[in-house]
Amino acid sequence: MSELNLILLGPPGAGKGTQAERLREDFALAHISTGDMLRAQVSEGTELGKQAQSYMQAGELVPDEVIIGMIMVRIGAADARDGFLLDGFPRNEQQADALGEALATLERRLLAVLLIEVSDDEVVRRLGGRRVCTKSGHVYHLEFDPPKHEGICDQDGSRLIQRDDDHEQTIRKRLEVYHAQTAPLIEYYEKEGLLRRFDGRRPPNEVNDHIRATLATLRLEDKL
Ligand code: ADP
Ligand code: AMP
Repeated sequence: MSELNLILLGPPGAGKGTQAERLREDFALAHISTGDMLRAQVSEGTELGKQAQSYMQAGELVPDEVIIGMIMVRIGAADARDGFLLDGFPRNEQQADALGEALATLERRLLAVLLIEVSDDEVVRRLGGRRVCTKSGHVYHLEFDPPKHEGICDQDGSRLIQRDDDHEQTIRKRLEVYHAQTAPLIEYYEKEGLLRRFDGRRPPNEVNDHIRATLATLRLEDKL
C-alpha cells in the first residue's frame, strides 16, 4: 500500500486542525502539528520553547533552523512510517525545500498537498471565537461549534482556553505572515502537481467528505 504522506495547507483558522483530527481517525495517520509541538515545548519550558515563545506571541514564524530540525526527527518516528499528516509545516519555501530533500533521501514522497481555502474575514471570525481543550487539544468555536457547557470540553471535562495568539492584533499579523511567506507554497506545490483545493467555507463534515473522496481517488491512481 502506498504511504499516505500529506500536507494540510491554508491560513491560520482554515480548519486544518479540525480536519486533521478526523483524518487521523479515518486513516490512522501520524498527525504532526508544528504549532502543537511548539506549544508543548513552551509549556515544558525547554530551551527550544524559550527560543520559540517570543516569535509565537508576536505572530511571526519561528526561525527555520529550530523548526526544520524538530520536524525531521518527528517524520522519522515509528508512528509516521506508514503515513503522516503535516499541519502547519512547511510555512515557507526554505522549509518546503528542506522537506523535499529529506523525503528524497529517505526514498519517500508526498501523495498530496491539501489546501483549505477561506477568506481573511472568515479567519478573523474563526480565530476570535476559537477555544481549545487544555488536555486533548480538541477545538471548539463559541458560535460555530460551542461546547455543551461553557468553558468545559465535552470529551474529557477539561478546561477550555483561548490561545495567547488568538487576539485580533496577532491574528492580523499571522494573516500578513501567511500571505507573504506561506501562500507562495500554493504555486510551489501546484507546479509539482500535488495541490488539491478544498472550499473551507463549507461545514466541517462536508470538507471532510470532500477530502476523503479525493484521497480515495489518489490512492487508487497511485496503485495503477
Ligand atoms: P487551523 O488548525 O487551520 O488553525 P482550526 O481547525 O483550529 O484551524 O479551526 C479554527 C476555528 O474555526 C475553530 O474554532 C474551529 O472550531 C472553527 N472551524 C473549523 N472548521 C470550520 C468550518 N468548516 N466551519 C466553521 N468553523 C470551523
Ligand atoms: P499554529 O498552531 O499552526 O497556528 O502555529 C502557531 C505559531 O507557531 C505560529 O504563529 C508560529 O509562530 C509558530 N509556528 C508553527 N509552525 C511553524 C513553522 N512551520 N514555521 C515557523 N513557525 C511556526
